[in-house]
Amino acid sequence: MERRQLVIIGSGPAGLTAAIYGRRSGLDTLILEGGLCGGQINNTAEIANYPGIKTTSGIDLAGAMREHASDFGAELRECTVESLCLGGDDKIVRTDKGDISADAVIIATGSTYNKAGFKGEDDFAGRGVAYCAVCDGPMYQDESVAVIGGGNTAVEEADYLTEFASKVYIVHRREALRANSIAIERAKANPKIEMLLGWVPDEITGGDSVRGLRLHSLKDGQAKEIAVEGVFVFVGTKPNTGFLKDGSVQVSDRGWIKTDDMMETSAEGVFAAGDVRDKFLRQVATAVGDGATAAMAAYDYISNQHYLKSALFEPDRAVALLISSIDSDHLALARETDGWASSGGTPVVVIDGHHNLRIREKLGVRELPSLVEMRGGVKAREAKPSSIEDIKSFCGSNE
Ligand SMILES: Cc1cc2nc3c(=O)[nH]c(=O)nc-3n(C[C@H](O)[C@H](O)[C@H](O)COP(=O)(O)OP(=O)(O)OC[C@H]3O[C@@H](n4cnc5c(N)ncnc54)[C@H](O)[C@@H]3O)c2cc1C
Repeated sequence: MERRQLVIIGSGPAGLTAAIYGRRSGLDTLILEGGLCGGQINNTAEIANYPGIKTTSGIDLAGAMREHASDFGAELRECTVESLCLGGDDKIVRTDKGDISADAVIIATGSTYNKAGFKGEDDFAGRGVAYCAVCDGPMYQDESVAVIGGGNTAVEEADYLTEFASKVYIVHRREALRANSIAIERAKANPKIEMLLGWVPDEITGGDSVRGLRLHSLKDGQAKEIAVEGVFVFVGTKPNTGFLKDGSVQVSDRGWIKTDDMMETSAEGVFAAGDVRDKFLRQVATAVGDGATAAMAAYDYISNQHYLKSALFEPDRAVALLISSIDSDHLALARETDGWASSGGTPVVVIDGHHNLRIREKLGVRELPSLVEMRGGVKAREAKPSSIEDIKSFCGSNE
């Protein structure tokens, strides 16, 4: 089977940034691109909130990121990931073009927004129909816009859009909004917002740009047109996590991947970055930050695994001292142990068991500090040292 150090799933801003950082750290890096390279930004004509670049098109930014990752030596391969197999030390990535074994995996598969399905939605996408208020709201200064949807995102984004637009219609098919009461009260109190409840969008009107939106009432079938220059659709977004079938990577109740600060998921050596994560803000700026963190954490993980394998699991006999790096007595003991080893004593592998919970789990170590003797990769015995004398005696004895 093909073996790689770092496999990144998805070539949006998060995946491409992870590839740049992965290659800069010297990792053999493969990106699997299941869709258009650059991801969702390809859907937007203008990006005006990416630091350092006042304005650019999504396609240009995607192209520049791809070139950057490729120039650093990352390999890009067109294929779709169908599942992950995470049982053993290696992570197996199953794709429509074969299986790949990886030391570490970064999931950067983004999300997909739902469409409302009215006539003209696709034709006017990116030139009047939008799916992101932070991205496109400022383009509607003193204009009228419609928001389609009745959940939290729709109601909160409608309120946000009144920062720019002179009028915001909330069009929702039900008689009551589904958002939380605070968001609803805020929207009701906003004089720029008009609620059209029980109404459904039928068709955009306009030529080169949006001029209006035709609606019909679900109550009595009545039809009308509202004059708007923009239509924002917020009828749900879903994470692209369908390939995580076996539950080995923990997700939220709506399917977003849960990670820690290092972007590591519940599965060891599997990281997630960008929109697919359970997080507050889904933007290019946050996706690239996640990608950088995930790649550096993956590098750290791979280096640690290699070190522990060669120092602890492969030799016939090895001794490890597990300490807590936030305890000054433990640190002093580690320094004494190193000093003893460098003046001719037994080499001892010092591990920060406070930050490295997984190695503690693997070695079955509950309390710190702890001494562990490994024989042929298997734990032979354990002791709790109080002084350097205890460590010398543990290393010297061969029970
Ligand atoms: C219309 C629109 C306009 C936007 N405008 C802005 C803006 O102006 N500014 C801004 O900051 N943000 C904007 N955003 C948000 C921004 O695009 C996202 O936050 C960003 O693209 C997230 O990057 P990502 O890498 O996490 O995921 P994505 O960009 O979603 O990339 C994920 C990639 O993974 C691929 N993939 C999915 N599943 C698989 C699989 N199983 N196997 C292999 N590959 C797979 C996808 O095809 C895709 O290429 C906009 C979003 C939209 C929809």
